[in-house]
Amino acid sequence: MKYSLVVESYEKLEGHTGRLAITEVLAGLLKETPKQDLEMLVYLTQGKLRPDYEGIELGIAEKYALRVLHTASGKSIEQVKRAYVDSGDIGTAAERLLDESRQGALFTEALTLKRVYDTLMDIARMSGEGSTDSKLKELVNLIGDASSKEAKYILRTAMGVLRLGVADYTILDACAVALLGEKAHRKSLERAYNVTSDLGYVVRLAAEEGLDGIRHVKVQVGKPIRPMLAERLPTAEEILEKMGGDVVMEYKLDGERAQVHKMGDRVEIFSRRLELITPTYPDVVKYTKEYVNGKKVILEGEVVAVNIETGEYLPFQELMHRRRKHDVEETMKRYPVAVNFFDVMFSDGRDFTQQPYSARRKELERIIEQNEFARLVPAKRTSDPKEVERFMEEAISQGGEGLMLKDPRATYNAGARGFGWIKLKREYRSELTDTIDLVIVGGIHGRGRRAGVFGAYLLAAYDEKRGAYPTITKVGTGFSDEDLRRFPKLLKPYESEVKPPDVESILVPDVWYRPKVVIETIASEITLSPIYPAGLNSIREGSGLALRFPKFTGKLRDEKGPEDATTVKEVVEMYSLQLKKIQSKPGD
Ligand code: AMP
Repeated sequence: MKYSLVVESYEKLEGHTGRLAITEVLAGLLKETPKQDLEMLVYLTQGKLRPDYEGIELGIAEKYALRVLHTASGKSIEQVKRAYVDSGDIGTAAERLLDESRQGALFTEALTLKRVYDTLMDIARMSGEGSTDSKLKELVNLIGDASSKEAKYILRTAMGVLRLGVADYTILDACAVALLGEKAHRKSLERAYNVTSDLGYVVRLAAEEGLDGIRHVKVQVGKPIRPMLAERLPTAEEILEKMGGDVVMEYKLDGERAQVHKMGDRVEIFSRRLELITPTYPDVVKYTKEYVNGKKVILEGEVVAVNIETGEYLPFQELMHRRRKHDVEETMKRYPVAVNFFDVMFSDGRDFTQQPYSARRKELERIIEQNEFARLVPAKRTSDPKEVERFMEEAISQGGEGLMLKDPRATYNAGARGFGWIKLKREYRSELTDTIDLVIVGGIHGRGRRAGVFGAYLLAAYDEKRGAYPTITKVGTGFSDEDLRRFPKLLKPYESEVKPPDVESILVPDVWYRPKVVIETIASEITLSPIYPAGLNSIREGSGLALRFPKFTGKLRDEKGPEDATTVKEVVEMYSLQLKKIQSKPGD
């Protein structure tokens, strides 16, 4: 196909802003385009060379684009700059200067769409030393064979500023009309697009295999699926009603969404926006290879920063350190993560997107060998709003940010926001501004570097009224290497084979200690919790209080006896004093 035909349509698009008119022009263009050129045409019209997820970047820097125009037009670099600044656009400047310098000279060889595409692709792929010169040479040659109008669009595309104002969905509309003969088929096209995220592929398939081919598009390992999105409702009762009486409750974890594709020995990870983030998470790649069974699998999960010795979830800010592009190995060691899978879209040769969630969760449980690095998001089925409340408390106190409630009957609706998933945010938080002194009453064995030492300590507050030590949190963060060595020795004399009678705890540690040693801790919040008995029933029936993201400050309070630890009464007061309604942010 001649590139001039494409440019004619682009010129028409420039004159229109209405969606209907744009669709019409595009439909005309798609009809004219031979099948083998359709894919290239679609990407170029989007201002790209390949779907986003392949990460092929166009984008010659401004100064190089100006240099190309200088060479191609024979105008001085000052003239080129002036034309660019005056018009504010590289395309307009190119058209004008080339018109002037060529004065209507005729071209013998017409540019093809393929040549434009291949050249731009070549340029995008060149990298390394000396590549700039070769890129510029290729571009100058291409412009040399282009008409001034063609040059206008080529340069805009090369600079990554094409901006025809054509949305992906407008291309689907045009495709429905032009290639499937009916606007109504746009729905099927949309689904095909949502499961492949590749517009060029979908349009070519429509041309080659028609509606039947489009309807049978399956998810493909290697092509990211546009993510399913959640709706929001304010209360558990409303969600239960909406979902027909029973739901699967899941922790909503606060990390980064990851769509993980496993293809034999290769693993690729896509972000929520479908960008390739594999290089950021070599550890997730490794865990997927080791702990996910199956040759071809597509999974979804939340990557969360963790304390690898204790398994505790860490705040979102910890994960942000992983965004750094350099020293990935080092950053990976300092900020370990766990991947928490919550969905599977393809497994064992089967497309699971049309299966109900209950079946997908079962498949997840079958294929994942769970451990501290590769986990399943904690989930529980219920029809009781009270239980939703308790699970919410548990999720928050464990470092989650709320709950995701899922309809066990819902399919995976790619690219759509719907009521198959509904997020339930907590309404209140109670920030902790002061330090709290707590008594060590239990030890939990560590893993990894801390194997044989300890991982975390179970801590209690002091209940004056009853002379008891109800547990309030588990802490595994904030200990130095020195602490790791001295704490076991310090605690040894207080070890107990059985739970000391004045300790109250639902959790059972590996070792009990008689209440003696007091340490100072900080935490981000005090939360309600069904698994810690401190302050049980004082705020809410059946719930105690717990610390969220607790940390040892490094201070051993050896001047304090266990009765001098922070009391339950104080913790309840702190909770009530600081309790504030959470303002939801727009877009939340
Ligand atoms: P939001 O960004 O507030 O609309 O919430 C949706 C996001 O929550 C998803 O994109 C995931 O990154 C994240 N998420 C955390 N836990 C889950 C879960 N169990 N199921 C689904 N999404 C989850």
